[in-house]
Amino acid sequence: MTSIDTLPPLREVINTHDLKARKSLGQNFLLDLNLTAKIARHAGDMSECDVLEIGPGPGGLTRGLLAEGARHVLAIEKDKRCLPALAEIADAYPGRLTVIEGDALQIDPLAHLTPPIRIAANLPYNVGTELLVRWLTPPEWPPFWQSLTLMFQREVAERIVAKPGSKAFGRLALLAQWRADARIVLQLPPEAFTPPPKVSSAVVHLTALAEPRYPADPDVLNRVVAAAFNQRRKMLRSALKGIAPDIEDRLLAAGLKPTDRAEQIPLEGFCALAREIAKV
Ligand code: SAM
Repeated sequence: MTSIDTLPPLREVINTHDLKARKSLGQNFLLDLNLTAKIARHAGDMSECDVLEIGPGPGGLTRGLLAEGARHVLAIEKDKRCLPALAEIADAYPGRLTVIEGDALQIDPLAHLTPPIRIAANLPYNVGTELLVRWLTPPEWPPFWQSLTLMFQREVAERIVAKPGSKAFGRLALLAQWRADARIVLQLPPEAFTPPPKVSSAVVHLTALAEPRYPADPDVLNRVVAAAFNQRRKMLRSALKGIAPDIEDRLLAAGLKPTDRAEQIPLEGFCALAREIAKV
């Protein structure tokens, strides 16, 4: 197998720096550099972009992103044991890698990034969904990022791309698909990671749309969707009772049947309902 750069193989890096994976940090490392380069390619053309990477660990994906031509990578890593290994990568790619030690949930990366910006990460599973929801619900749209290329547990990836009528369809699908194109670009078995997690994984690629697919106020849409899926087995007229006293009329005005259930309603229907609810 040819290497993508002149740095040592990742197994050697892990041994040299004694980077035994810690479960508490969601550490399941990708050690195959051809695979990390493949994931990096799914992020698209990075030659004119800054790339934000969360949780670089020993740097497999970081090396993929740099070898595939990212203009600059900003990597945020919570585990300080990984910093020496990441410093070696920074030396091999002068001026193109900045590493910040800390918790990605607490750090605002924007001060360190120059647009256009892409995000790519093999996310720690425990913080992955929270970060995704934050990136999908910024105060302004379009967001600070052009695309997200993210590894998730396969079940979470399926919830992001799910269509109406399926069990996986819910809040995450609506949030992702309202203002982005989302698709699964790669499936990975547990054995692709060291140590292998219990479940399969998948890489999801999301591209930000310039404008939402259908008009709606983000806060109202979020409230309606949250209430509808909180009681997904109930008919909309009872699941949404607390949203408006005349909910049946509003559902009908939005072209929806009050007896339908949340998982049958397409994105367009939720947006129409959010517009009806926003009317005084
Ligand atoms: N990107 C590496 C790879 O593909 O081999 C490591 C992926 S591992 C699944 C997740 C990484 O995220 C670990 O290196 C872990 O230390 C780091 N991490 C966990 N929680 C974090 C947080 N809140 N902020 C930043 N990094 C975090």
